[in-house]
Amino acid sequence: MEGLGEAARLVRAARRGVAFTGAGVSAESGIRTFRGENGLWKQYDPVKTATLSYFLKDPAVYWMVSRERWHTYREAQPNPGHYALAALEELGHLAGVVTQNTDSLHLKAGSQRLVELHGNGRTVRCLDCGASEPRSEVQARLESELPPHCRTCGGIHIKPAVVFFGESLPPAAITEAMGLARECDLMLVVGSSLGVFPAAEVPLLAAERGAPLVIVNDEPTPLDELAAVVVRGRSGEILPQIQLLAGG
Ligand code: NAD
Ligand code: ZN
Repeated sequence: MEGLGEAARLVRAARRGVAFTGAGVSAESGIRTFRGENGLWKQYDPVKTATLSYFLKDPAVYWMVSRERWHTYREAQPNPGHYALAALEELGHLAGVVTQNTDSLHLKAGSQRLVELHGNGRTVRCLDCGASEPRSEVQARLESELPPHCRTCGGIHIKPAVVFFGESLPPAAITEAMGLARECDLMLVVGSSLGVFPAAEVPLLAAERGAPLVIVNDEPTPLDELAAVVVRGRSGEILPQIQLLAGG
């Protein structure tokens, strides 16, 4: 496959590389991407389901969709791409993973240092009183309670700790991701359309500093021309091969 050998050489040489992942890395785990051919947004209106102002007006709409999606997320398992990234960290080539995903699959695969730029679906927080509880507990009462109420204050503005449109990214996560990008000696982008800002500033910063950029994606991205290597195809097939060639 074109670029594979060169990508593996760069990964092997890296001592503090950073992987930057998007929805594409989880596609082979059965979690659909937002954009692209099988994109979720062809089915649901993202404006209604994941925009803060709509959510605040009518949380029941969000929870109705989310109630069904939760099963997919909970049952999803990491694919060989997630495992390869965890192995490359273990082998000392990657310092960590910065992800835009909220599906917890990098955690399930054993990645140690993980920055979740868009939050995660494991926790639900009350926007009114700040209380939080595990998603599994909220899920349990969704059958009889729509929208679910906060256990502490009784309000209806409890929301998963994922970043909605109209919300800013968690500052600590942005700071940590930018710090990794500033220090890295390789930026490995996997399965991201690189069209969502400010998240895409993370690989951009690394490239501007001169760190080699390796892009693994099944379609072209806006940063391809800055890349040292682009490997086109499925990450669940490509990453294990890179890992193998890099000596793991
Ligand atoms: P995106 O949907 O915009 O882009 C995904 C990219 O991956 C596309 O370019 C697509 O062609 C490519 N791709 C799809 N399958 C692939 C595969 N098997 N191998 C390699 N590439 C593949 O996703 P994004 O860039 O992450 O940004 C969209 C936003 O959607 C993010 O903010 C993220 O939080 C959110 N999101 C997360 C999940 C999840 O947690 N798994 C799922 C959908 C959307
Ligand atoms: Zn509350």
